[in-house]
Amino acid sequence: MTIPNITLRDGTTIPQLGFGIWNVPPETTANVVSNALQTGYRLIDGAYIYRNEQGLGEGIRASGIPRGEVYITTKVWNKDHGKDNTRISVKRSLKTIGVDQLDLVLIHWPVPSQDLYVETWQTLIKLRDEGLIKSIGVSNFNEDHLDRIIRETGETPVVNQIEVHPKLQQEHTRFANAKHGILTQAWTPLGKGQSFDADPITTAAKRTGKTPAQVILRWHIQLGHIVFPRSVSPERQAENINIFDFLLTDDEMTAIKSLDIGLRTGPDPSVFKLT
Ligand code: NAD
Repeated sequence: MTIPNITLRDGTTIPQLGFGIWNVPPETTANVVSNALQTGYRLIDGAYIYRNEQGLGEGIRASGIPRGEVYITTKVWNKDHGKDNTRISVKRSLKTIGVDQLDLVLIHWPVPSQDLYVETWQTLIKLRDEGLIKSIGVSNFNEDHLDRIIRETGETPVVNQIEVHPKLQQEHTRFANAKHGILTQAWTPLGKGQSFDADPITTAAKRTGKTPAQVILRWHIQLGHIVFPRSVSPERQAENINIFDFLLTDDEMTAIKSLDIGLRTGPDPSVFKLT
């Protein structure tokens, strides 16, 4: 199964589908990551706060897939905002994962109440220029947060990773991303299974002979999103990657659009401040 690569605004490329490791227990992460890579995944979406960066690195090394073929994302956690802490956080992630360079580092949440995300962004720009990171982006940024970092630093993130699934389609933020040439990464792309039994999903699944999860992931791909579904089961890992041999019709895409009810499964970025 060949996963398409897409080009980011900084000219680098990223696989459009990868594997997320939020909530994967640290002690099993190496096995899960290694299996995902052997199944064909080439992007691992991690974060310092997931507490499994060591397993991420071990899994890559155990898989036998050369480092250069694997795209590693990690994220700077809320308590690590600010000039010094961001630098410490990125260096710690490099060491824990056991690599010389990270492919993509994101600011995990803007935490507007602590008002350090611009300084954090300036530090990521420096670390990228020093060669410790290939590309830099953000996560859970609303339009006003994006506008502010771009205005104050002149540097536009390559991606904005936000919660998107059929019940929370986030058109406003996706359009804000597109306006700046920022690609949308969709977290919790399966939406906790909440639309698996919705008519537009089951009808498309029946027509294509695919599962509801595959239909939803395909919907993301056709919208141009980057996705990284998570599953510790090898069967589901294989199922979720097997979405590049069918197409949803325009009518099916429109029917899925009607499922949007603005239902978040996670926190609202304008107020989230957990450290
Ligand atoms: P997901 O949408 O990937 O769903 C995972 C859940 O769906 C698991 O319970 C899994 O068992 C189940 N599942 C997986 N494949 C399935 C299938 N084929 N059929 C039925 N059920 C299936 O949710 P997620 O893990 O929350 O999100 C994916 C990734 O996004 C995370 O692992 C993480 O990397 C990232 N993420 C980022 C943020 C952020 O703030 N930036 C927040 C949450 C998640």
